[in-house]
Amino acid sequence: MRSANQWHELLRVEPEFLDIEKRVLSGNISDYRQISPESFVLHGWDMTAEERLFNMMIPFLRQQLTRAKTSMPEIYGENFKNINPDTIRTKEDWYSIPVLMKDDDADLGAKGFRKIANDKPIVMKPKDINGATVPFGSGGSMGKSTPTFITLADRSREIHGARRSWNYWGITQNDTVLYTYNTTHKGGQWIQESFLSHGSDILLRRTEDGTEKVLQNIIDYNVNVLITVQQPIEAMQNQAKAAGVNLHALIETSMEYPEKYKGIVIPDDRGRKQIEFIFLGGFEIVPYAIELQENYLNGTPIATQLGSSEAIPQAASINPKLMPSGQCHLNNLHLLQGPHYVEVVKKSGDKWVPVDKGEEGLLIYTSWARDGTIWVRYAPGDVATKLLDEGECPCGIYSPVITNVHRKDSGERNALLVNGCAAG
Ligand SMILES: [Zn+2]
Repeated sequence: MRSANQWHELLRVEPEFLDIEKRVLSGNISDYRQISPESFVLHGWDMTAEERLFNMMIPFLRQQLTRAKTSMPEIYGENFKNINPDTIRTKEDWYSIPVLMKDDDADLGAKGFRKIANDKPIVMKPKDINGATVPFGSGGSMGKSTPTFITLADRSREIHGARRSWNYWGITQNDTVLYTYNTTHKGGQWIQESFLSHGSDILLRRTEDGTEKVLQNIIDYNVNVLITVQQPIEAMQNQAKAAGVNLHALIETSMEYPEKYKGIVIPDDRGRKQIEFIFLGGFEIVPYAIELQENYLNGTPIATQLGSSEAIPQAASINPKLMPSGQCHLNNLHLLQGPHYVEVVKKSGDKWVPVDKGEEGLLIYTSWARDGTIWVRYAPGDVATKLLDEGECPCGIYSPVITNVHRKDSGERNALLVNGCAAG
C-alpha cells in the first residue's frame, strides 16, 4: 500500500496529459480514438479545472453528438432533431443539450426511451461500429435491462480510467487484491483487468466459493486488499439472494471460526489483521457497513467508486488513511472526468445547468470516448448533492466532491448494493 507521505505523488499533472491538451487545442487531435486508452490513467484528469477540461472534451462531445444523431437515431433522432452539433462550442451551448431519461418524467417534460430499448435492445448499438461488441445490461429490476454495447477499446479506456481510484486507495504493484463480485457483470470483469493493468495480483471468487473458501484464499495468497459488496439492507435474513459472499457474511464466518480466521478480515487479539483496505461496491456505503467497520474491523479503511454498466468510473472516495484531512471519505466522492463527462445538473428554463454547492441535482454523464453505446447527458436515475466546488477539498485532488448519491427509484437500491457497481 502507498503510504501517506507518498500521497502528493498522485497530485501532479503529467507532461503526457499536457501534451494531449496541447494537441487537442491545436486541432492535432480531433477524434477521441487518437487519445490512447492508457491516457485515462493520468491524474491530470482530476487535477485540472473543469473549464479547461471542457475545452479539451468539446471536440469529442461534438463528435459523439453527431454519431448519436446518425448512428442511434431511434434513441436520439427526436431529441436532437433541432440540434446542429457543429454549433455546440461553449458550456452554455452544451447546457442546451437535452438530458436523456430512461422513463418519461412528466415534471420535467422529458420522454423516456425505455420502451424503445426494451422492444428492440439492438438499437442501443451504434450503426457505425465495425468491430466486435459485448452488451452489458443494467437496471433490470423494473423490467428488461438496457444494454450498453462495449468494444475492446472502450473496455481499455474504462479499466485505465478506474485505475486512478486504485491509486487514491493506495493500491500498488506490491498488493494482492481479492474480489467477490460476479464476473459476468461488467464491474466484475473490469476489476480483474484493471488490477492486472495496474500491476497488482488479483484473485477472483468462483461463483461456487463460499465465505470459508474466500477467507482461505485470502490466507493462502497473502491478499491484503478486499473488494466486496454490501448485504441487502432491507432483508438481512435473505442472505441467499445476496450472492452468498459480502462483508457481513465474511465477518460472520470469521467470528464463527476465530481460531482459523481471526487476524484476517477481523483483527486478532493483538489488533493485527491481514486486510489493509476494503472497497465496498454500490452507489453508497450504507450506515450498517460503517457500523461493521467500527465494531468488528477495528477501523479498516473503506472507500467506494461510483460506476455502472453504462459508465465506469464516475466518482470515487479516497483511502482516508492516506489523507485524513480530506473531505472525500466514504460517501463523499470526487468526480472523475475521462473517459466520460460527469455532471450534476438542474433544470433552468429549457437548459440543464450545473447545480451550485449544497444543491441536489441529477447525475448525468456523456460517454465521449466510446465506440459502443453513446450516452449523451444520460440520467440513469441517480441524484447527488454537490458538497465541494473544485479546488476546495483539502486532499489536493482538484475535482468537485459530491455526496449523498442515491437512486430516484429506491427499488433498484438493493440490487446495486448486493451486486456492487455495474450491477447487471
Ligand atoms: Zn479530496
